Amino acid sequence: MKAFEKNIRKVEPYVPGEQPQRKVIKLNTNENPYPPAPGVSKALQGMDVDRFRLYPDPTAGDLVHTLAEYYGVDDSQVFVGVGSDDVLAMCFLTFFNSDKPILFPDITYSFYKVWAELYRIPYECPAVDESFHIVKEDYYKENGGIIFPNPNAPTSIYENLDFIEDILKHNQDVIVIVDEAYIDFAGKSAIELIDKYDNLIVVQTFSKARSMAGMRIGYAISNPTLIKYLNDAKYSFNSYTMNMTSLVCGVEAVKDKAYFEETVEKIKDTREWTKKELTKLGFTYPDSQSNFIFATHEKYAAQDLFEALREADIYVRFLGGERIKNYLRISIGTMEEMEQLIAFLTEYMKKHE
Ligand code: PMP
Repeated sequence: MKAFEKNIRKVEPYVPGEQPQRKVIKLNTNENPYPPAPGVSKALQGMDVDRFRLYPDPTAGDLVHTLAEYYGVDDSQVFVGVGSDDVLAMCFLTFFNSDKPILFPDITYSFYKVWAELYRIPYECPAVDESFHIVKEDYYKENGGIIFPNPNAPTSIYENLDFIEDILKHNQDVIVIVDEAYIDFAGKSAIELIDKYDNLIVVQTFSKARSMAGMRIGYAISNPTLIKYLNDAKYSFNSYTMNMTSLVCGVEAVKDKAYFEETVEKIKDTREWTKKELTKLGFTYPDSQSNFIFATHEKYAAQDLFEALREADIYVRFLGGERIKNYLRISIGTMEEMEQLIAFLTEYMKKHE
């Protein structure tokens, strides 16, 4: 081993879902099957390319202001970043600096573990119960901070605000981050609790309900004190995280509330249809409140199904791992795409009875 090796920060990186560059039925990364709001395309066409000579607004002021208005908070309560991954990474760096372990569920967004390792933050992962629900009492012990998604991923389960408040009440001395990447497909957001709990940060994204995974926009909403700490860390890292195009497109996406609501409703309707069809085929799954379903079948191994689907150009996510090795995470696509998925599975099961 070379001497310098011992000083290299070695990490096992997060593995994102496949992004095949040809057209497939893509149900593997929880993207939105519908295009962004029409205003996004218009704004893009109207962009003044000459302005690309200049650095973008380091404060992302227009986007911050548009989000603040949308959620009825002050501009000083909004932090934006390059996707919620960037926002979450910045949160780990800024807020999780205790010697005590941070807590997040054993079955959850696998990036949390990677950031904890990268920043050398001690962590513990309380097990979700048999039905994949987070056990809130496991978060009542001493810790260095808490993070979990609501709805959780990949389980798709949403917990109501009483549940979130119970965790907050027992954890007033540490930062609690609720990662709401999928909240628009579920119930109430914890944003309404930020005035009541000064240790709460809510993180959301444009990647799912707003159809803009490719633009990389995420944001945190909290009180001005915590948002200032986040900005201080960001400006110590990279002043210009958000590019001009994303800033312009993001504003347009937030403005069109009607389009957003219509798209979310379509996805929820398709989700409910897909649940029924999967049940008919013998699949079981937690009751999804997200834009994906976490499904398992007693007779068919998830990995076999995953591979057969992939051969047929239908991409779903097989995550593996001890407790969930027989589960597939299936994103909700258009109705036509879900019909094709169900048709394929029906045929497959006929052939492999
Ligand atoms: N949180 C959760 C729970 C997710 O599933 C994802 C999507 N992979 C993210 C955060 C990150 O999304 P993005 O960086 O696209 O905003």
